[in-house]
Amino acid sequence: METLLPGLYVHIPFCVKKCNYCDFYSLGISECVNAFGEGVYRDYVDALKREIAELRQCRGNGACGFGGTVIPEKIDSVYIGGGTPSILPPDLICELLDELRDGFVIAPDAEITIECNPGTLSENKLIDYKKAGINRLSIGVQSLNDSLLGFLGRIHDSKKALETIKLARTYFDNVNLDFISGVPGLIGKSRPQSLSDIERAIDAVAENGIPHVSYYSLITEEGTPLYDWREKGLLEDMDEGLERESYYLIKRRLNDAGYGQYEISNFALPGYESRHNLKYWSGAEYVGIGAGAVSFLRHHGGEKYVRYSNRKSVADHIDAGSFNDIRTVEELLDVIDRKKEFMMLGFRKLTGPDREIYSKLFNGADIELDFGTELQRLRSEGLIGNDLSLTAKGLDFANEIFTAFI
Ligand code: SF4
Repeated sequence: METLLPGLYVHIPFCVKKCNYCDFYSLGISECVNAFGEGVYRDYVDALKREIAELRQCRGNGACGFGGTVIPEKIDSVYIGGGTPSILPPDLICELLDELRDGFVIAPDAEITIECNPGTLSENKLIDYKKAGINRLSIGVQSLNDSLLGFLGRIHDSKKALETIKLARTYFDNVNLDFISGVPGLIGKSRPQSLSDIERAIDAVAENGIPHVSYYSLITEEGTPLYDWREKGLLEDMDEGLERESYYLIKRRLNDAGYGQYEISNFALPGYESRHNLKYWSGAEYVGIGAGAVSFLRHHGGEKYVRYSNRKSVADHIDAGSFNDIRTVEELLDVIDRKKEFMMLGFRKLTGPDREIYSKLFNGADIELDFGTELQRLRSEGLIGNDLSLTAKGLDFANEIFTAFI
């Protein structure tokens, strides 16, 4: 059974420059240095260390965390994400991990991931990451086509990406590569993504023995250059049929190479499924540290759960006296809300929601009794099987499954 220990996410909101499609909370280097000075990385990591220490102190005093939450002690996954965490000097990452080990009991076999981008990694960084106990790298490659990389506004080209992949594999066995599908063209400047771009990416995955791949569809988010281009009619989308074909191509090629699809956008060789990400889809708790990070924790009063977020502001994080002053409750989930969310997130996994975890989380409750009507309908429509796994049709129409639990 999948573990239900909480996971821990640390947000590093710095990037060399903003990509054209990105609406994550992150700031380009020059914007950062102009606003906060050269010492911004040091100041930010010091703030993260204070945040971790505050959580430890609060738990040690027997007090509740923000919004009446219970601050967990034992965790078995850490995800240092961003932004571009690999932009930080590696000694700051080591300090951060030391502080995390003081603040939490991190299981000896914990999965500890750091997100990296080509153009920001070096051999020395990788050696230091290993020494610090990091055992998984997630690299934002996105494409191996220079024209698409330019369109996306990435800082690297395909040569740099391939060098980074090889370098990463020299030091790390457990490596994920992120790719993007459904990339449009900019009329008169670049062509939309083609199947050969996808073939090339998957060849590189297999040739380099990469055990985990994420393939996300490009989404046009408001406030990005991509959004503006779409509004102005400057984009040439991939042909709809071709876009669907590219999804099948990704699945077929990866399946043929031995990768199992375990979530809508995620593929892994056996045993390399991401423990941290599985927590999000299995209803586990998580602690979020850093500007903009989100936490999902049990309320001390019983069965409710709280989702709260840290303010998206590096300045406020650096200046925070108490971190509770820069947090906001996003959601208070009662048992019914949480059961529905468990189902929605669980159906992102190909195996569907886990009955045993459900029963454990909800005092012996039975999924079939609680959601009999919805499950019956989804089965009759051929979207899920008797064992709750997604069928091929269910994978194609996953949104219909999710909406059954809203
Ligand atoms: S590197 Fe990642 S987080 Fe940074 S701007 Fe690009 S997509 Fe966003």
